[in-house]
Amino acid sequence: MRTALIAGVTGQDGSYLADLLLAKGYQVHGIIRRASTLTTQRVDHIYEDPHNPDVRFRLHYGDLTDGTGLRRILEMVRPDEVYNLAAQSHVRVSFDQPEYTADVVATGALRLLEAIRDYVDGGERQVRYFQASSSEMYGTTPPPQNETSRFHPRSPYAASKVAAYWYTVNYREAYGLYAVNGILFNHESPRRGETFVTRKITRAVGRIKLGLQDKLYLGNLDARRDWGFAGDYVDAMWRMLQAEKPADFVVASGESRSVREFLEAAFGYADLDWQKYVEIDPRYFRPAEVDDLRGDASRLEREMGWKPVVGFTELVRMMVDSDLELARQEQTLKNAGHDITGSG
Ligand code: NAP
Ligand code: GDP
Repeated sequence: MRTALIAGVTGQDGSYLADLLLAKGYQVHGIIRRASTLTTQRVDHIYEDPHNPDVRFRLHYGDLTDGTGLRRILEMVRPDEVYNLAAQSHVRVSFDQPEYTADVVATGALRLLEAIRDYVDGGERQVRYFQASSSEMYGTTPPPQNETSRFHPRSPYAASKVAAYWYTVNYREAYGLYAVNGILFNHESPRRGETFVTRKITRAVGRIKLGLQDKLYLGNLDARRDWGFAGDYVDAMWRMLQAEKPADFVVASGESRSVREFLEAAFGYADLDWQKYVEIDPRYFRPAEVDDLRGDASRLEREMGWKPVVGFTELVRMMVDSDLELARQEQTLKNAGHDITGSG
């Protein structure tokens, strides 16, 4: 049985990857951060009683800011594959917390690579490492972006991801580690964090449709993104670690849409006119924006046979359907006298 370690298992991608690896028969270990509230909602459906000796999914407390703890987890878990999906992953927040973002996203990846470098003991042990790199690294470089396009990061998040990208390449070249970058374009799902624009929109569609909300405040509607489905992207991550030779790949759908087009698709699917509800709040503008991302994943298709399964329209519908259901549950609670928004 192969063993995988996922940093960032409680996040959108970590939870889909855990689903995928468990289905493939892996033993899956995840790193979770200690918090005063539970953060395991996205993996609750696969949680098993750790007292059961045959359990295939286990969680360990750890943090990318704590290198010693990461080393201890590696020694305990003895993984064949390590997926680094952990990050302060919000671009706008990275302008407010640049040092913290760099510590987790850039130095955090370095800590994990350092721990692996020592763990493999000069090649005595084999570990494959996946780094979740980002299309944000391209910044101002015009589309289509591929593996040879220039990086021009436009946020502390993107600059930190560029550092982590190069640490990964450097550890491959310097120490012969099997370490690869997946340059991931935006990917979404019903499990996407609620402050990313797609989920913010589909959450609002559900709540507006059920009369729980009447306005949606957004920033720049002209930005264009290449939006795919997270379930497809974790499959690409896994494939990249199965290849004979380590290499970096763009993972993208190849299509781009503006935020405005996403609004039209999501509100339209629920028979709503977005222009009646959306207002612009400059708070959501970024000090420097990334205008246009559209990835060229032809290398991944050619060499690894990967192609996205879920298209844009299906993705939007999947997210709206899920958020309509969530809004219905919220409304049921409200009708029963519970107000989960806490506004009284
Ligand atoms: P996400 O939902 O924000 O999940 C991030 C994960 O990282 C969570 O499990 C989070 O834990 C964990 N984490 C945050 N800080 C940590 C720390 N200091 N130590 C250990 N774990 C920490 O992000 P995602 O959408 O799944 O994205 C996965 C990865 O792909 C990230 O590295 C992201 O930057 C990258 N990426 C994502 C996209 C995209 O469109 N989704 C595109 C390009 C690249 P908590 O649950 O405790 O917060
Ligand atoms: P990003 O591509 O990783 O920054 O993903 P986001 O979903 O956070 O943002 C995608 C695009 O939507 C960016 O160009 C944002 O400027 C734009 N956008 C417009 N309004 C909003 C908003 O209210 N929240 C977020 N998160 N993004 C917004």
